[in-house]
Amino acid sequence: MLRIIAFLFVGTLLYSCQSTEQLPKASETRTLDTVIVNSEYVLPPYQPTPNKSWELLHTALDLSFDYSSQEVNGRATLTLHPYFYKQQELKLDAKWMQINRVTTDSGKALNFEYKNNQLIINLDSSYSKSDTLQMVVDYVAKPLSNTDKGGRAITASKGIYFINPNGTEANKPTQIWTQGETNFSSCWFPTIDQPNQKTTQEIKLTVAEKYTTLSNGILEFSSLNGDGTRTDYWRQDKAHSPYLFMIAIGEFTITTDEWREKEVNYYLEKEYEKDARNIFGNTPEMLEFYSNLLGVEFPWDKYSQVVVRDFVSGAMENTSATIHGSFVQNHKRELLDYNPDDIIAHELFHQWFGDLVSCESWSNLPLNESFATYGEYLWYEYKYGGDTAALKLHGNLKSYLRESSYKQEDWVRFRYNEMDEMFDGHSYSKGARILHMLRNVVGDEAFFASLKLYLTRYAHQSAEMHQLRLCFEEITGEDLNWFFNQWAFASGHPFLEFTHSYDSINKQYSVDIVQVRDRESTPIYRLPIKIDVYTRSGVTRMDYVISEERQTFYYDGERPQLVNFDAEKYLLCEKTENLSEVELQFKYYNAPLFLDRLEALKELNDFAILKPESGELLFSAINSSFYGIQLQALQLSYKMNQIDSLRLRSNLMGLSNNDPNPKVRAEALNVLANFGTEDEIKQATLQALADSSFAVIATGLSTLTQVDSTLAYEQAVRFKGSKNATLNYQVLDIFSRFAGPEELDWLINMNNSTSGYGKKAYVWQFHKYIVRLNNIETTNRGIAHLKNIYFSSNQNKVKEECLYGLKEIQVLIRKNANSGETSTAETDPIVDDQLAFQIEFLEELFNQIRKVEKDESLLRILED
Ligand SMILES: [Zn+2]
Repeated sequence: MLRIIAFLFVGTLLYSCQSTEQLPKASETRTLDTVIVNSEYVLPPYQPTPNKSWELLHTALDLSFDYSSQEVNGRATLTLHPYFYKQQELKLDAKWMQINRVTTDSGKALNFEYKNNQLIINLDSSYSKSDTLQMVVDYVAKPLSNTDKGGRAITASKGIYFINPNGTEANKPTQIWTQGETNFSSCWFPTIDQPNQKTTQEIKLTVAEKYTTLSNGILEFSSLNGDGTRTDYWRQDKAHSPYLFMIAIGEFTITTDEWREKEVNYYLEKEYEKDARNIFGNTPEMLEFYSNLLGVEFPWDKYSQVVVRDFVSGAMENTSATIHGSFVQNHKRELLDYNPDDIIAHELFHQWFGDLVSCESWSNLPLNESFATYGEYLWYEYKYGGDTAALKLHGNLKSYLRESSYKQEDWVRFRYNEMDEMFDGHSYSKGARILHMLRNVVGDEAFFASLKLYLTRYAHQSAEMHQLRLCFEEITGEDLNWFFNQWAFASGHPFLEFTHSYDSINKQYSVDIVQVRDRESTPIYRLPIKIDVYTRSGVTRMDYVISEERQTFYYDGERPQLVNFDAEKYLLCEKTENLSEVELQFKYYNAPLFLDRLEALKELNDFAILKPESGELLFSAINSSFYGIQLQALQLSYKMNQIDSLRLRSNLMGLSNNDPNPKVRAEALNVLANFGTEDEIKQATLQALADSSFAVIATGLSTLTQVDSTLAYEQAVRFKGSKNATLNYQVLDIFSRFAGPEELDWLINMNNSTSGYGKKAYVWQFHKYIVRLNNIETTNRGIAHLKNIYFSSNQNKVKEECLYGLKEIQVLIRKNANSGETSTAETDPIVDDQLAFQIEFLEELFNQIRKVEKDESLLRILED
């Protein structure tokens, strides 16, 4: 019901802005009494910009750590003043803490109340905005007592994380790190945990001497305490939001680069020290590129990047100290398959968009995330060229359109249930496309001048979307409400249908453009568009503005060979073009952009039988110099197979063996598995197993299982224990399907070599292996192993997988007990006893979990 009610409402508003002549027919016959108001429907709550009763000025923290209880002993000294109105009470966010004492800076104890994760301090008198106060809070932060659940984007809410705190997990370093976004910094220090607060900071960290520390700003000094500990003193004099505070503590090695006399550091585990520049080495060039492009120099004292274990998101742009998940920690050979530049660029661009100017509320998250995502595009455009960048932006469009099939929200939305909902394809992918469109609408010079104005005007402050709009209006001198209203404060996207015809008598070409839409839910968009008309005498560029539901444009002259709609390919839309096969061929060979060729290939796919010229085009496309075209063309290989199977297979053999791009080699192998003979597949896969790329080897193993599982298993044994996650996953997959009980010990030990999503996948593969063997002994050990993983993991996604695995094993045991059959014996009373024991053991285990597990989503798995 939500959609119907909401859409009718939106429709009414839109129509009321137009003259009655323009009212579409459908709305005239629509009557309100057909609307069924469902009383159960609850509009998500309005999420206002947080009120500012107080304004933070400075935050000083003095922290030490108790690893065994996973607690932080802290003293926070906060300097702040009433924002506008007089205040006699100060409310601080302070989650899952024990508050020991609150005093003024002169040591006078203050009365306080601590409830609902808030510290309410009663002040001795009323203070005005000209008064500056200092409060000292002595506290213990207890993240283990936190029972809040995590979200989809940030998967936990503890704020501060102790990794392997007692050193009991093999192959895992002991670390402490923090994750503040969205409002989790208040889990490790009392603050006003809102993005519209800005504060300078100093942090003292007392740690064992063997540990390295990282925080925002500059490490001013370190002092040895003579008891095996050291205190590091970090300071940042430039104000930023509390959610951007960070600390990381562990045995990191530091590799140092420099940019304009600022330190650029990479903190990695010892094993990856020699790979630091292979992973992060483009950072100084990115700093130079973004500083020049924006006309605003990188604003912070230094830039560090640290890789931590078991991170709860992909990466986080803490001011001057970005945290990355361990998936970016790769050896040189692994970097052949994965270039982490996109995530490095994304987090770095946030240092301007997010950190220097923060979104003032999470409703305005696109001011952070859309820019960071577009920052990836800008870096790609500069470093790797237009084709690679366009492929990336095309990926953003696909990702948004996928999401839009089940979720359409305003880009800036003030109603949502959970903050985590804002971290979606709208804030990231759609936003990047909107910014790209805005850039094309106003032009490069105006776009970057507007961004410079926005960044300088709101530096070290927070902003909302309208402030960005006003900067663009100030620079361009033009009203841009139309753009922001249809893209930022409305949902959805246009669906455009282009048709064209030629009147040979009058020598006139016409282009008909229809905005196909649900009149109740979709506005009529205003879309500046460029159309290129190709004739024998050349190309003519035409600029139009689409602003009506249906518009026809005319062009006088000879019959065009091609009319290329949205010639710059920047519109955020879905479209149909109705081009003939010959026009598509012309477009592929003559239009200038990668996206022209990509569109031509996609549309050729719609023709049931292709002309021979299109076949030639496809064979040329799989051998293109750009992998984006090759990968798209490989998707049409079944058409090439119809045209000339032998030629296709010979091409695929060549590509899988020799193409310079590992993605193409792997995909060619995948395709060959569909069309090749057994001998061809074997030959190509065996060659692939000697490839430099782990992804190609993994594809080789996977392909080999389709023709010869025994050989695939023999080959997989060669790669046992690979540290590469992709290859390891494939080996585990083959072992789970074909290995015997003799590999159980090895499979159990593999747990120590996996982490994050790799561990989730491992648990899934492991349980498949146990279920397939269906053997009393292995099942016993399998259950014990999954139980161990469950209780030692701090990650819900891993725990979830353990429970699913154990539940499936339970089903199997019950089935065995009922049928009296296992692979080891038939109707054996000893076996019956063992099965009964297993059933009982699992029941007890599940009861134990029910008692101690606080997370409801995990408990639900047990009840399903
Ligand atoms: Zn981001």
